[in-house]
Amino acid sequence: MSPNTPDHADDTQNLELLLEVGRLLSSKLELSELLTTVMELSSRVVGAESASLLLLDESTQELYFDVALGLGEETSKVRLKLGQGIAGSVAKEVKSLIINDVRQDPRWSPKMDEQSGFVTRSILAAPMVMKGHVIGVVEAINHSDGPFSDQDLKTFEAFASQAAVAIENARLFSSLREEKQKLQTVFSQMGEGAVLTDPKGIILLINKAAHHFLDPETASFQNIREGFKHMAMSPDLPQILASQERVTPFELLRESPKKLILEGSIIRLESEGWLWIFRDVTAKKQEEKLTRSFLSLISHKLKTPLASITGYSQVLLEEGQGQKLNDFALKSLTTINQQGQKLAELVEKLLNFVTLEELDPVHMPKSKFDLVAVAKEEAASMKKWLEERNSKVEMALESTPFIVLGDPNLIRQVLRNLIENAVKFNQKKQKAVSLLIEKEGANARVSIADNGAGIPPEEQSKIFQRFYQIESSFTGQVEGWGLGLAFCKKVLEAHHGTLQVKSQLNQGSAFNFTLPLAT
Ligand code: ADP
Repeated sequence: MSPNTPDHADDTQNLELLLEVGRLLSSKLELSELLTTVMELSSRVVGAESASLLLLDESTQELYFDVALGLGEETSKVRLKLGQGIAGSVAKEVKSLIINDVRQDPRWSPKMDEQSGFVTRSILAAPMVMKGHVIGVVEAINHSDGPFSDQDLKTFEAFASQAAVAIENARLFSSLREEKQKLQTVFSQMGEGAVLTDPKGIILLINKAAHHFLDPETASFQNIREGFKHMAMSPDLPQILASQERVTPFELLRESPKKLILEGSIIRLESEGWLWIFRDVTAKKQEEKLTRSFLSLISHKLKTPLASITGYSQVLLEEGQGQKLNDFALKSLTTINQQGQKLAELVEKLLNFVTLEELDPVHMPKSKFDLVAVAKEEAASMKKWLEERNSKVEMALESTPFIVLGDPNLIRQVLRNLIENAVKFNQKKQKAVSLLIEKEGANARVSIADNGAGIPPEEQSKIFQRFYQIESSFTGQVEGWGLGLAFCKKVLEAHHGTLQVKSQLNQGSAFNFTLPLAT
């Protein structure tokens, strides 16, 4: 074919038309607008009088006319099964077809013509296919100049595949926009402050709550640093930004115009940036402080009278030994003395816990010490207490020192608490306690195990809460405040360690803790 033949001129025209169509379709991302454009172009590309467009409903596998096309209520109700009618069979066979006299074709139904008064003579129909799946069918109706030709079919197929891509893109775009809107609603409605920043701290998105917490007066900052300007941050911002962790907890404190304490986390995003989430914990912190002051006050108030009770009852018991105290007086004095001592121990533990609650891990006095030596000393100091309770500690300790950095007195108390528990809650006649220290990676791992009743699985996460004790019917005695394990956990966390329990009913429990070895 020479470049100047009429066929070549047709081809060039077709190509130009298809390019124009491509440009038009790809410029429309609004689905309803795009569907109308596809309809209009369907007739234009092959010179037809009219056109129709049906989409496939994935869930019911039926073809329908989208309401966006504004074809009227009756038409919008039409549903064609795959294989039904001309469009249905094009979708089922995934093959375009030309019907130049519809009345001769049994697949054609005159129903729509009867409704609209339109007279259909010929149809050119093509499936719209996206990644091997039919998403709809386009039809050009009544060629304005004779019958539809094979060339029309080719042009129409090329158009249908462009339309399929454009419709799929618009659908993707609208579902993305919907998701974004949902996210934005959650973001703006959440009570927590939320800020999205780039790696330098430039704010990309900030919600109402965050504005309110950070700068209720002006709310005009662009970098999150400005928002935090009047607040003390711990850890400080350079430390947080240098952190390699994915999530870093932080606290913010502002004294004026009104005290405000915010607690939150910074999440390092894979897309290079930060998500800052924080909530107002001022009331919670103040309440905790009040509880601490109250507990501290009553413990201090109880200490002096208790010292008198235990002290004087002890003196009376010793003095009375030479003289003849009657049985009743002796029994009463012994009980007063023993119960007084128990109460004094409880008060001491409560005070220890309250003091610990105030502990600031950053400024805690620390020294390097040998964990193995401390464990040996602590077990030795408990020898009498253990013997009185028919128990002893079996030790499997390394001969080499395990040096850790921290407060040895606090770690001593952790060991004591766990050994005491291993005995206290054990109703066996022979109470066996084993103490094992071994190296686990960069940590020392301490395990204190007993042969007691074990801890029911549903209780295992609760026992670390403050003032939590398992029902006495289970462990047999409730001696203590339910503060021992909360104390241990807090001490270990302040030392960058962990505390966990492994327990089996009727077999026993093992409390395992880790501490980083000093380098
Ligand atoms: P308490 O002051 O009562 O000792 P803890 O915080 O130390 O409080 O322990 C909380 C609860 O966990 C205890 O009341 C007890 O029921 C249970 N518990 C702790 N250690 C053991 C153990 N070794 N065996 C069985 N139960 C235990």
